[in-house]
Amino acid sequence: MAPVTPRFPSATHTDRIRRAAAAAEARVIDALLITPSPDYTYLLGYRAPALERLTCLVLPADGTPSLVLPRLEEPLARHELGDLVESVAIIPWDETEDPFRIVQSLLSGSLRVGLQDQMWARFALRLRAALDPAEVVEAGPAMAALRRIKTPQEVERLSAAAAGADHVMLEVTSERLSGRTEADVSGHIRRLLLDAGHETAEFAIVASGPNAASPHHTAGERPIATGDAVVLDLGGVRAGYCSDTTRTAFVGEPPAEFGALYSVLQEAQRAACDAVLPGVACSEIDAVARGIIDEAGYGEAFIHRTGHGIGMEGHEEPYIVASNPEPLQPGHAFSVEPGIYIADRWGARIEDIVVCTDAGGERLNTTPTELYVVE
Ligand code: ZN
Ligand code: ZN
Ligand code: ZN
Repeated sequence: MAPVTPRFPSATHTDRIRRAAAAAEARVIDALLITPSPDYTYLLGYRAPALERLTCLVLPADGTPSLVLPRLEEPLARHELGDLVESVAIIPWDETEDPFRIVQSLLSGSLRVGLQDQMWARFALRLRAALDPAEVVEAGPAMAALRRIKTPQEVERLSAAAAGADHVMLEVTSERLSGRTEADVSGHIRRLLLDAGHETAEFAIVASGPNAASPHHTAGERPIATGDAVVLDLGGVRAGYCSDTTRTAFVGEPPAEFGALYSVLQEAQRAACDAVLPGVACSEIDAVARGIIDEAGYGEAFIHRTGHGIGMEGHEEPYIVASNPEPLQPGHAFSVEPGIYIADRWGARIEDIVVCTDAGGERLNTTPTELYVVE
């Protein structure tokens, strides 16, 4: 049984902290301020509650990191950090103290400070005031530089999450869909994800008939019927890492017109997966899928980017989009999910998580990409 926490051995977290400091230094940032968020969990290995009282990892480019947190959060932090506590100075603050002054005192002389991207405005604005005249910038680029490259341990977690999601997909596509509502099938998917070892079932898109033309449709009370295309897009979090996969089913015998559309989509998705190799630009992967869909006359019907990075968050860098010239590197993990959507009629999408390796793209989802003909 895989662990259900995002934690890795302490040495992994010590190394991440060291590399985050180096990434800050490389961007001429004197310190990163990381409040509870995926970045915080990535560095420290536990999820701190995001509350109105300031909890903040102060990570200088040079020097010992400090964890400034409300005194009542100290026992949890010590318990969760284990021997990582030796690498981090814990600085608890009392109810009547001003934590922003504490952060200020730790950073005296800093010229440039990076704030975690998802930091609440109430903290970001107060920290900016307390650190004046230091320049305040986004910590995102420094953190993303680390998080976008998955280690083999992380790829293992992503694989386990993908395997769980695949198991659910096979189960759902083997069942009768006609006569059930989208919401019923969606609820069933969420329960199956939890049964498959996910801690959370984040989403279970069931988009049937004309709803299949809406990529982020919310499952509703529409009863699924013969003649419907059904887009099934499901995922969640397992051991701190995300799954995300899409398959398309058709209820009853698909008309030739839909079959033709689907073959184009399948070819585009496969070709984009096959194009993955270190050095190939993210924009090029998008261009491969888009070129095939365009060529077949469905260009206008492919209304979103080809994919997004995935890891501790469902959407993270690198983005597989025409505007991203970034070259792929071994360890990049991302979705390849072209879709074709015909408004008021039907739609289809195929989504796999792919990891870039020296030898090319490795698909973590292994279910067939065929159209699933169901009852
Ligand atoms: Zn999406
Ligand atoms: Zn998806
Ligand atoms: Zn996705």
